[in-house]
Amino acid sequence: MIRYEDVGGVHIKYLHHCPRQLWLYTRGVRPEHLSATVQLGEAVHDSTYTRHSPVDLGAAKLDFVDGRQWVHEVKSSARPTPGDRAQAMHYCHQLHRLGVEAQGAILHYPATRRTERLPYTEEAAAEAEADIQAVLNVAAALSSPDRLTRSRCRGCSFTDYCWME
Ligand code: SF4
Repeated sequence: MIRYEDVGGVHIKYLHHCPRQLWLYTRGVRPEHLSATVQLGEAVHDSTYTRHSPVDLGAAKLDFVDGRQWVHEVKSSARPTPGDRAQAMHYCHQLHRLGVEAQGAILHYPATRRTERLPYTEEAAAEAEADIQAVLNVAAALSSPDRLTRSRCRGCSFTDYCWME
């Protein structure tokens, strides 16, 4: 069973996208390697900001932290999602737990040349903590959460798994 300290950025992102996705992931279902969306994400990571090294926080791996202690995350999608924002705040939260005074996060969207700046506030910290608890609650459920409506599953790497019937 997943522990508090094991909750990482992927868990937070899946929590906000689809609790069923999170539940499957916590049980070892890993169809990502089949997903073109994930491959695109990896390609963007490989070709963007190559001068920076990823920061490994154990369960969470973020793209890099600048000298002013802002977290930077590079995304392959066109615009920010609630999951992107929650994931970024989770990284700030984890850094604070380790004694690093992260100021916030900057999300980069090279496909649309867009950036979003998210300060790490007390409210953000409380939400990040609540998200960790929500991940633990979903993971502890004995049966899988319901599927989303089909239209909301577009691009999800678990589509074949959920809709194979
Ligand atoms: S295919 Fe749909 S229901 Fe299944 S995990 Fe993905 S978003 Fe959730």
